[in-house]
Amino acid sequence: MGQNTAESSVSLINSSTMSNTERTFIAVKPDGVQRGLVGEIIKRFEQRGFRLAALKMVVVSEDHCKQHYIDLKALPFYAGLCSFMHSGPVVAMIWEGLNVVKNGRLMLGETNPADSKPGSIRGDLCITLGRNIIHGSDSLESANKEIALWFKPEEIIEFKSCQQAFLYE
Ligand code: UDP
Ligand code: MG
Repeated sequence: MGQNTAESSVSLINSSTMSNTERTFIAVKPDGVQRGLVGEIIKRFEQRGFRLAALKMVVVSEDHCKQHYIDLKALPFYAGLCSFMHSGPVVAMIWEGLNVVKNGRLMLGETNPADSKPGSIRGDLCITLGRNIIHGSDSLESANKEIALWFKPEEIIEFKSCQQAFLYE
């Protein structure tokens, strides 16, 4: 009886914290756009079953990039990273689905493409740390902050994907 109560509270916690509508912020950086990899990256998220909730191509200000990477401001590569992010168009997206933050990071691979496994985006499509083609939120908290920085609420499109019943039990 006691054990059952413990089990049911675990499943309650899981059902209230795991959600098919979790969202992450993904951006194809200027190198990925220039190299013609936007379609390949979108394809991977679409084929996995995640739902595209917002998408735009933008050249953002350096201040915007500095804000986006604010947690890294003390690091030596911060200035170069921010100036590169603002050097050309970026394709900014919101992807939605169960555990999309964590799984998005797994799909990206490691920060350094040299450490990324084949099969991951960085492991398949790029070579060096400073030209690693894609950004993905590293936690739910960062995802929420980044989505608010990059998108206005009206740019985020709510619709029920017709695939839902075949992706989720
Ligand atoms: N970066 C870099 N030099 C480093 C570490 C990171 O140029 O030594 C760049 C790299 O493009 C990376 C970005 O800074 O994607 C942000 O770093 P972070 O540690 O947040 O990696 P990410 O979350 O992108 O995997
Ligand atoms: Mg990061």
